[in-house]
Amino acid sequence: MSGPIYAIFSDIHGNAEALSAVLKDAAEQRVTQYVCLGDVVGYNANPSECLEQMRALGCPIVRGNHDQYCSFDDDLTGFHPLAADAVGWTRRQLSAEQQKFLADLPLVRRVANFTAVHSTLDMPDMWGYVFESLEAEASFNYQMTTVCFYGHTHVPLAFEKASEVTGGLYNRLKISLEKKYFVNVGSIGQPRDGDNRASYAIYDLENKEIQLRRVPYELTATQEKIRKAGLPERLAVRLAIGR
Ligand code: ZN
Repeated sequence: MSGPIYAIFSDIHGNAEALSAVLKDAAEQRVTQYVCLGDVVGYNANPSECLEQMRALGCPIVRGNHDQYCSFDDDLTGFHPLAADAVGWTRRQLSAEQQKFLADLPLVRRVANFTAVHSTLDMPDMWGYVFESLEAEASFNYQMTTVCFYGHTHVPLAFEKASEVTGGLYNRLKISLEKKYFVNVGSIGQPRDGDNRASYAIYDLENKEIQLRRVPYELTATQEKIRKAGLPERLAVRLAIGR
């Protein structure tokens, strides 16, 4: 009898093809539980479908900035034009009930013995990006669990806090209870680290091991849907280059 194996998903961004591929991979890896770090919607052409798939899993979800933007009728001035176009389009695809579901999601959640957040633990509603040790250190000050998973940057990086904070790329992490870990699982729907494969992480609680997974998927189908929907061409192009 082995313990729970968690799949940690983030930044699905309405990419149904990437999500299907990742769900298949997770099942093959004997995942028993799912957690979603937010940004289920925005950018790609299947926000409603992706949201319903995640709701069907019944897993804990935290709110991302796109989940928030797409669930209110806030003015989009000051937004990057690409993001504003996608947010406007996505709002029109979601029902009032779906928007309320997204708006009501918590910003931070404790799941089993770890924490889930979209952006940072120090100011989760300010949507700051964590790329460097100094930025991770601010979150560590608020981290009560050994492990916290985060998303938002679409770049899978892991930070460790022992006597000081260090960080960088990772494939596998062995968790020591003497340290703390702030771990980005990358993005399923729009990777930005130059690798166009969908990214997620598996956390085996019993073996205290985190593994990053990269999963190829049929991205030409996703690009086709973006073009058909009239979403910005740049959103289709970036999927292929992973930026
Ligand atoms: Zn995102």
